[in-house]
Amino acid sequence: MGRLVMKFGGTSMGDIERIRTVAQHVAREVAAGHGVAVVVSAMSGQTDRMVGLCREASAMHDAREYDAVVATGEQVSAGLLAIVLQQQGIAARSWSGWQVPVKTDGVHGSARILDIDATDLRARMEEGQVAVVTGFQGIGPDNRVTTLGRGGSDTSAVALAAALDAQCDIYTDVNGVYTTDPRVVPGARKLDRISYEEMLELASLGAKVLQTRSVELAMVYKVPLQVRSTFEAPDGPNQNSHNGDGPGTIVCDEEDIVEQQVVSGIAYSKDEAQVSLRRVKDKPGVSAAIFGPLAESDISVDMIVQNVSADGETANLTFTVAEKDLPRALGVLEKASEAIGYGEVTHGTGVAKVSVIGVGMRSHAGVASEMFKALAEKGINIQLITTSEIKISVLIDAAYTELAVRVLHSAYGLDG
Ligand code: ADP
Ligand code: ASP
Ligand code: MG
Repeated sequence: MGRLVMKFGGTSMGDIERIRTVAQHVAREVAAGHGVAVVVSAMSGQTDRMVGLCREASAMHDAREYDAVVATGEQVSAGLLAIVLQQQGIAARSWSGWQVPVKTDGVHGSARILDIDATDLRARMEEGQVAVVTGFQGIGPDNRVTTLGRGGSDTSAVALAAALDAQCDIYTDVNGVYTTDPRVVPGARKLDRISYEEMLELASLGAKVLQTRSVELAMVYKVPLQVRSTFEAPDGPNQNSHNGDGPGTIVCDEEDIVEQQVVSGIAYSKDEAQVSLRRVKDKPGVSAAIFGPLAESDISVDMIVQNVSADGETANLTFTVAEKDLPRALGVLEKASEAIGYGEVTHGTGVAKVSVIGVGMRSHAGVASEMFKALAEKGINIQLITTSEIKISVLIDAAYTELAVRVLHSAYGLDG
């Protein structure tokens, strides 16, 4: 049997009783002969609590100290799981990111993994010890603890699986990837398989079941990836993870999916903010003057729309950024106002992006018009539209998010 990385999220690690359930899953895979590394998240609610404490301590806190604080949640759960495993007679020890080491760049709060030197960890695993590794963190170039951004334990797990040549099972509070968030559409259907590309779009467009970066890494390093439930009986039938299709959702190459749907899933994100620049001079170089400084400040701009005003000399330009970046974006625009030359800036939150995703769109016409028709029938106004080869996104009033997701789910025949 090969090596296996098992990742357990915050809800799965929520209390000692749940950690005992996690230990049962680990015990099953150890008994099946796998070399097991476990990646754990902080117990549910802990990271939010610590983020809140940092903000309370100072609105403008040092990102390096933020990382020092929020990384502790995973240390607690790694230690607790190692204790529970040991108590059940399974050799185990905890590893913090820096002990492995998981080396990252120095972007505190959203660091990227550069390299994992798994030599020591692999040696211990070969001796039969289960390695319990803290998710979400590593060590930066200046020897300080870094964190990988919210939801980052998924990325820790996939990166570790790549370093160990292992399969990766992501255990969470749902039993797989669904056609849309099952908490919004109770009729959402579990997918047996989804392609890396579609999963990447779903994740980046708001389905938080996997962190986007984890899917990118799985795709690049061809890590066999499965999303499955912590709460299905750990010792029930068909639980051993790598018998054929497995109990959860397999994320795999497009070619490995026999029955491909036109639309595979629907995602939404409410963390959007809209910025409009009115009466911008309609001349070459203006877009560069706006989006250059935003990019330099590491602010990603998503949807962009420009319309020429009645006078034919100025235009209105609207775009979206992540809500958390809005104050910084407004600051950047203010600073660059002379170089850009605009009449006024308006901005708003209260908007949401709803996206339909499917590789089948490449070969099917009419997917977009179907979307617009379905939304129109419910009187939902579309403010912005963007498309790519395998997705269409629209920006709407956030109050209609759930309705829009449900309507589209039915319109594309996804209801279970
Ligand atoms: P964990 O703490 O285990 O990392 P998360 O809360 O980060 O878990 O991710 C799991 C949640 O993702 C589910 O509870 C579900 O509400 C949400 N989710 C959003 N979109 C989807 C989807 N398409 N399929 C499955 N779950 C989804
Ligand atoms: N504990 C971190 C968070 O809440 C990382 C994770 O759970 O993946 O974002
Ligand atoms: Mg998560």
